[in-house]
Amino acid sequence: MSTTQDRNEKMAPILDRIPDEWGKYLPLWGWDDMLLELDAKLAALHPDYVLFQVKEKFGGLRFYAGVGVEQDTHEDFNKLIQEAEEKSWHICEMCGQPGERRPGGWIKVLCDEHVDPEARKRRWEDIETSGPLTEEDRNAQE
Ligand SMILES: [Zn+2]
Repeated sequence: MSTTQDRNEKMAPILDRIPDEWGKYLPLWGWDDMLLELDAKLAALHPDYVLFQVKEKFGGLRFYAGVGVEQDTHEDFNKLIQEAEEKSWHICEMCGQPGERRPGGWIKVLCDEHVDPEARKRRWEDIETSGPLTEEDRNAQE
């Protein structure tokens, strides 16, 4: 898993669920495995569920999904999403290692390594050399 192309292939099951007009963007790579796990569980309940948006807000995952155009009200479906959102508070958004929410201009979930702005900068440079950054990626940098 080293290039943005590899990542897009790995995350295709999730990216394919996002309608084009919503923008096929996923937050940083640290949450990829957690998102794939969530997707598999949701797909078991609703094989054709639609994903509207995945983003980070206030240092946590936001996962907007439903069946058809409606926000789903299926209890188990929403519970799985809620569990993943709570899990994201403890997973470094940059690398997937255990992390915690760190205050700052923009609250982020970071491990002990990536709490260092220089380490984050290096991580972004690694990502950038592996492929073009999206506008959202650029906005996610401070
Ligand atoms: Zn990290």
